[in-house]
Amino acid sequence: MGRYRIGVDLGGTKTEAVLLDGRRVARRERVQTPGDYAGIVGAIASLVARAADGLPGGLGSVERIGVCTPGTEYGPDRLIANSNTPSLRDMPLRRDIREALRRDDVVIENDANCFALAESVMGAGSGYDVVFGVIMGTGVGGGIVIGKRIHRGANGIAGEWGHHTLHAGGNRCYCGRSGCVETYLSGPALESRWAQMTGRAEGMPQVAGLVTQDGGIADGARGPEGARAWLEETINNFGLALANVVDILDPDVIVMGGGLSNMDVWYGAGAESVRKNVFSSLASDVPILRNKLGDSAGVIGACLI
Ligand SMILES: [Zn+2]
Repeated sequence: MGRYRIGVDLGGTKTEAVLLDGRRVARRERVQTPGDYAGIVGAIASLVARAADGLPGGLGSVERIGVCTPGTEYGPDRLIANSNTPSLRDMPLRRDIREALRRDDVVIENDANCFALAESVMGAGSGYDVVFGVIMGTGVGGGIVIGKRIHRGANGIAGEWGHHTLHAGGNRCYCGRSGCVETYLSGPALESRWAQMTGRAEGMPQVAGLVTQDGGIADGARGPEGARAWLEETINNFGLALANVVDILDPDVIVMGGGLSNMDVWYGAGAESVRKNVFSSLASDVPILRNKLGDSAGVIGACLI
């Protein structure tokens, strides 16, 4: 691999670019994500130019430029679908960034895939071959990396466990179906279920403080009525949903990312629930690890595509 790469993380609120020198982050540039499409394309072009500024051959010495963003590309024109940024939907982002930068090798990749790739090359999954990267936060997503390469699948949806059916006929999902994993294990879903079962409107950071790794309520914080039932249900949903992934993919490791990955319970009682629910005892030892790259995984993954 060449020495320099640039990755851009295009998020709903901020857009960040890094210059990777080998495996080291050499420069980091960040702006607020503009609200309009032309502004977004312009911001990416100027961030990339700033990241390459001062390099001996300028942008010409950068081997690869990747852009990480939620959503997928579709059709021959590679339009953006499933983005949480409205102005990007159905736009030819790849073509327009290539034109703005006058480079025809810019690629766009889903944020969960970038996370999985970054963790498999430079993070918690670096010693493993088949890595399943989990995103649990505002939404639930995932990415598969095999031999340090993203496995996208025939239609680019490989790893999207967030819309597997966890409970047939269950919660309505924005995707148009019901019972999807995301409607039980995303941050908003867990918060609304907590409010329903305990009568308390609290955010997940507060709730997380009450929950121990082994699936109990912390000493001295008995928790409201309904807390234990909520926790039991949550652990069971996590175990069932991830066991389904393990049964199909049989990964060497699962690396957790997203805002909810900070909760200790996934690595104790949650992992135990996965083990109980997998089909084969041979596949029951899959390690479930915390990510190592934190918020930087997406932008680093974009460099490594
Ligand atoms: Zn869904």
